[in-house]
Amino acid sequence: MKFTGTRSDCAVDSAFAIASGLAADGGLFVPQSFPVFTAEEFAAMADMDYCQRAAAVLEKYLTDYTADEIKYCVEGAYKGTFDNDYPAPVVDIADNRRMLELWHGPTCAFKDLALQLLPYLLTTALKKTGTGREAVILVATSGDTGKAALAGFADVKETRIIVFYPRDGVSDMQKLQMTTQKGGNVAVCAIAGNFDDAQNGVKAIFTDDEMKKFLLDNNMEFSSANSINFGRLVPQVVYYVSAYCDMLKDGSLKAGEEFNVVVPTGNFGNILAAVYAKKMGVPVKKFICASNRNNVLTDFIRTGVYDRNRPFHTTESPSMDILISSNLERLLHMLSDGNCELVAGLMAELKNSGRYEIPANMLEKLQQEFYGTWCDDAAGAAEIAEIFKAQNYLCDTHTAVAVAAGKAYRKETGDETLQLIASTASAYKFAPAVLAALTDEALADDDFEKLEKLSQITGTAVPAPLANLKGDAVLHKECINKEDMASFIKGKLV
Ligand SMILES: *Cc1c(COP(=O)(O)O)cnc(C)c1O
Repeated sequence: MKFTGTRSDCAVDSAFAIASGLAADGGLFVPQSFPVFTAEEFAAMADMDYCQRAAAVLEKYLTDYTADEIKYCVEGAYKGTFDNDYPAPVVDIADNRRMLELWHGPTCAFKDLALQLLPYLLTTALKKTGTGREAVILVATSGDTGKAALAGFADVKETRIIVFYPRDGVSDMQKLQMTTQKGGNVAVCAIAGNFDDAQNGVKAIFTDDEMKKFLLDNNMEFSSANSINFGRLVPQVVYYVSAYCDMLKDGSLKAGEEFNVVVPTGNFGNILAAVYAKKMGVPVKKFICASNRNNVLTDFIRTGVYDRNRPFHTTESPSMDILISSNLERLLHMLSDGNCELVAGLMAELKNSGRYEIPANMLEKLQQEFYGTWCDDAAGAAEIAEIFKAQNYLCDTHTAVAVAAGKAYRKETGDETLQLIASTASAYKFAPAVLAALTDEALADDDFEKLEKLSQITGTAVPAPLANLKGDAVLHKECINKEDMASFIKGKLV
């Protein structure tokens, strides 16, 4: 298996793609073709555990890794690091819907599925590419990636990790998770701006020649733990394959029977992983792309026009407060049958004018498989209350947006096909908003009291990684302007 860039053709090994994160021209790495599982292979995987399923998927893409290396990576990532033996359980929530719970990891959000594995994949890749340099992982986060990457990379040898988050764009709990992070190789810094500012800053630094030289002079190289890195994407493909296997096994689906996937979307990484799973043979009919008020993707799916020139809204689902969805570039590459020139042109338009429009034939293909919709905070809150009342099921503010989107889709289309809904975070991570949805009671402004209160009301346990934050010292207090990111990085590295 070789990987090409989205903006110009190349053919590199997976280790190179994972170690470098981004192609030299700013494009993203994508597989040159998609391996396909047969019905027999899916049937065999249904009887495997999560690590074995992960290895089966990884082996198809990381053909330059040995079977032993892959086994070492997946077992390091998933054995004993989640709150049960099943990192991504599928839960029946009635009305022909299933929740794919992706928040049982050490930071209580779906990013853990990829970021527990990425440090293993990356350090193994660095050995293969053999430069002997230290990897400097730059992360821009809308809240959950930052902590998950810190948890994965803290004190991992031959790596440093630097995380930038928008000062006013993350929940208090997300912020506390990041600013209390221990580890000799970590740095965390707030940006006076929003997520797009942080992400653009990181992308610019990645391709900046002076910064690249500065790193080389210090025997270092940049890599990325954002979902622009293929090493983030492939672990996410695993849980869709795994969910299909689980649903085959428990009789929810017959072999080859189609289902719909509903994903609360920000940077388009999670939903793109579902698209990859379909390419590998998982029978997905529709991808329902759920957005909050930052509904740039809803408009794109409906009209073919991507236009980020619109107000940026800070919402109760902060990990979806994004106007530039990086991974969409990979979908464009796919929809254009690998037309790098076209993709590069669209990305240049996005950079220059904040807007582009895809050709009619691509829009037609997009709409065959995708449905986009959005809801605001009030509708999300209503959904949290309703699903708790009806099913005694607790869901977070991001997942609520997906539940609402799934309902809107059914109402508009009449398609009652089974929905697999990606549940992307623990409700406890967003306890103030979830509590406000569930009760009218006035509450003291203390985050840990709110965790307790949510636990009392719902009869569920506070996840240990959040409860344990209480009393941890805040170690990272810096806040800078986005223009100062490069100098901040230099200061931390030497
Ligand atoms: C990151 C995140 C999302 C958005 O996922 P993308 O892959 O960026 O589309 C949704 N919900 C939660 C809780 C997240 O952390």
